[in-house]
Amino acid sequence: MGIVTLTIFLFALFGLVFGSFGNVLILRLEKRESLLGRSRCMSCKRSLGFLDLVPVLSYAFLGGRCRRCGAQISVQYPIVEILSGTVFVLAAALYPSNVFLAVLTAFLLYCLLLSSVEDVLYQKLPDMFVAGIAIAALVMTLLSGNILSSLSALCVTLVWFGGQWILSNGRATGTGDIFLSSALALWLGLRGTIAMLFLSYMVGAVITLLLLGLGVISMKQKRIAFGPFLAIGALLAFLGVGQEFFEIFLS
Ligand SMILES: [Zn+2]
Repeated sequence: MGIVTLTIFLFALFGLVFGSFGNVLILRLEKRESLLGRSRCMSCKRSLGFLDLVPVLSYAFLGGRCRRCGAQISVQYPIVEILSGTVFVLAAALYPSNVFLAVLTAFLLYCLLLSSVEDVLYQKLPDMFVAGIAIAALVMTLLSGNILSSLSALCVTLVWFGGQWILSNGRATGTGDIFLSSALALWLGLRGTIAMLFLSYMVGAVITLLLLGLGVISMKQKRIAFGPFLAIGALLAFLGVGQEFFEIFLS
């Protein structure tokens, strides 16, 4: 096995395990429970053993049900585990010869994933995850030396989301969106941030229309979590999607 294959394999394993931990983190953060103590079935309260806790596989083999009481286990668990594994693999594949950068990127994408899940489930963007993104972004900016680009990107998001927040008395956008987009701006720099904003609204419009069409949400819905759209927009911009578009657009 080549060293790159081995790195990607290890990142995939870590990603799955961190995904499993992320599920616990989100649940206990919401219920304000300590992170210590064993995981339990939410229905019969039975302590879960090692065989119940293997990422993805336990869910698949148990058919998404508790081994003892047969209660259905939320599909959120394997989804978060798979997505976490995927972003870790992506980070390793993007920086195969720079493990430090790969770890930073994996950590940032992981925090972004957990923020999005929190926003979808509880309409919240916890400071802990957003701070994780900001710290990783800051280290990467300092390493790359693109400080000016990151600072101007920060101004763009602060004006854009901060402006909406002030003008609408906090109704059009939450403070969480201001913090999340600012942390992502530090990471993406000016061009990337403009692409992120553009892509977030496009992705947001398409997904919202789709959910309306499928009847998952209704027109009466007060607020649709914007965090996940920002996350998808940021990921696409990071992968260069919007930036290519802008090249065509500007030339
Ligand atoms: Zn049970």
